[in-house]
Amino acid sequence: MFQTSIQDTVETQGIGLHTGVHGKLRLVPAPADTGIVFRRVDLDGFQIEAHGSNVARVSYATSLMKHGVLLSTTEHLLAAIYSCGIDNIYLDIDAIEVPILDGSAEPFMQMIDKAGIRKLRRKRRYLKVKKPVEVVEDGRRIGIYPADEFRVRCYVDFPHPMVGQQEVEMVVNAGSFRQVLSRARTFCFESDIEPLKSMGLIRGGSLDNAIVLTKAGVMNGSLRFADEFGRHKALDLIGDLALVGLPLLGRVEARKAGHALHTQLVSQLLADPTSWVITTEEQAGAGRGSRTLRAAPATAAD
Ligand SMILES: [Zn+2]
Repeated sequence: MFQTSIQDTVETQGIGLHTGVHGKLRLVPAPADTGIVFRRVDLDGFQIEAHGSNVARVSYATSLMKHGVLLSTTEHLLAAIYSCGIDNIYLDIDAIEVPILDGSAEPFMQMIDKAGIRKLRRKRRYLKVKKPVEVVEDGRRIGIYPADEFRVRCYVDFPHPMVGQQEVEMVVNAGSFRQVLSRARTFCFESDIEPLKSMGLIRGGSLDNAIVLTKAGVMNGSLRFADEFGRHKALDLIGDLALVGLPLLGRVEARKAGHALHTQLVSQLLADPTSWVITTEEQAGAGRGSRTLRAAPATAAD
């Protein structure tokens, strides 16, 4: 298996979910061993590697920070790039936050499709998990376990008639991500809107980029999937796992987790080099194996 980048430069623009700031995002090809690197083109191209060592504060979105330079809401873009197996890319942005677009990863998948993927002449390196690493906190938990492929299992449970218990389990690759997760949108509860606004968050939030759950239903039309919420949480999880910095060979199980737990897992994993090994093994399994999806029945159907 060889490293990849994209073939052509592509761009989009839009507002950030939390800051409401308008930004232009450009995906630019990068040479082998670059990794996934954000460049703040409004700050002389200041580079922030998509890596656990640059995780800043994390609450309702994942933010990276390096030498005081912040970049917010990286997870949906990174989920698309990571799932598509793009090892090397520059993500040029002229603002503090990645555009939220429609709240899912589908617009980023369309950008990647337009750009095309290019194989480079350097062997891909994987981070292969050797022993379990777990983070447990107040009934929420996340763990990563040895496996020959990149697999996630994500369980959510929200006390809401449209959500309840939902679970997604799958081997992650470009095809499964596109089909199962990429279109699932961000969501929030109507009752959280004012508190979030008073915290200075969701200034760019609207019915065009987030599903808003009222007490009994959904404010903005039909869902894309009955279990869109569970799917979106799995999308978020993969976007945060991209911060490992290399393709993963391991199985991740998340139970009522969120960005804080996801990024804690990444930090704990990276901090313990006895729990993994870096390998270029061809039989490593990426792209191989079957996809499975299990989803608990939900009340809404689409
Ligand atoms: Zn999200």
